[in-house]
Amino acid sequence: MYRIALWGFGAMGSGIARNIISKVDLKLVGVHDSRVDYVGKDVGTLLGLEECGVKINGNPMEMIESSNPDLVVIATNSFVSVVKDQIASVVKKGVNVITIAEQMAHPFFTHPEEAEELHNLAVRHGVTILGTGVNPGFVLDTLVIALTGAALNVKKIRAARINDLSPFGPTVMETQGVGTSKEAFEKGIADGSIVGHIGFEQSIYMIAEAMGWTIDRIEQERKPIISNVLRETKYVKVEPGMVAGCNHTAKAYMGDECVIELEHPQQVKPELEKVDTGDYIWIEGNPDLSLCIKPEIPGGKGTIAVATNMIPAVIEADAGLLSMSDLPIPRALIGELYK
Ligand code: NAD
Repeated sequence: MYRIALWGFGAMGSGIARNIISKVDLKLVGVHDSRVDYVGKDVGTLLGLEECGVKINGNPMEMIESSNPDLVVIATNSFVSVVKDQIASVVKKGVNVITIAEQMAHPFFTHPEEAEELHNLAVRHGVTILGTGVNPGFVLDTLVIALTGAALNVKKIRAARINDLSPFGPTVMETQGVGTSKEAFEKGIADGSIVGHIGFEQSIYMIAEAMGWTIDRIEQERKPIISNVLRETKYVKVEPGMVAGCNHTAKAYMGDECVIELEHPQQVKPELEKVDTGDYIWIEGNPDLSLCIKPEIPGGKGTIAVATNMIPAVIEADAGLLSMSDLPIPRALIGELYK
């Protein structure tokens, strides 16, 4: 039985908490979130379940000291600059970390200094750090690498994740520019307030490292997906002519040759304009291989599942900062059948 704590009880963190509670091999022992309206409340009650005896603690270090976890899942933010100190403070307590921060999925090339610092810290404290999630962490990297395992040779990799953004909250709507005008979208891209997908570089470097390829440059393009119809979710209203999402693409080159091409058009309510969602991988090589998952792996459930399912592998792994390609093949923890 592994003792698990959570840092961040938002859309993903609360889903991970619910999933951990359902697992026979995992025990939820502590939760920290900075939201004052959560502090002191029972996690079970907040999830609409029975009281579970774990209350949201407003102080992360106090939460870790009092709950003595084997691993903390950090679900607070996307960026290395923000989560680095959170990860380091957990590692210094001798506790393993899984984070769903996109930039931590493979930070070795994008953030080499921070990655080295965290790796050395983890080794010194004998614990493991993993960044993961549905994407980056699974669809456009781990799954791609796994598929190449059945290829005699690989010349080029192309993959696409065409997904529905509707379940996501205001933060994601803002970073994707959903609900804005075309002009505001373009201004947001130029000033960095609209970023599209976070994680292409991490996925590309994870794949390239697995293939033994050295990437010379990555080109990215972000285009607004303009809606022809009214699209409404719990968090956003998109009038016809406004932005329903971001079509973000990335191409990675070795010399002049494009060897990895990733596409990730994300939008709210794609079905209103008959856009089929799905996850697709095409390997050009010997033989050519393709994989299609229709509709796409849902972003929320997928992230919650991957973050939870990797817990045993991370606790049992060698110390250091790892990525998904360093660990055993992901597999479901089917705890709910037994509890
Ligand atoms: P969210 O906004 O719903 O939740 C974040 C929670 O963290 C909130 O409850 C907030 O109060 C808390 N929080 C933020 N900073 C904190 C801090 N310093 N200390 C304590 N609590 C803090 O977001 P979410 O949808 O749960 O996603 C969390 C992060 O994970 C986002 O950055 C998102 O982009 C990322 N994410 C990654 C993947 C992936 O595939 N890798 C998938 C989904 C989400």
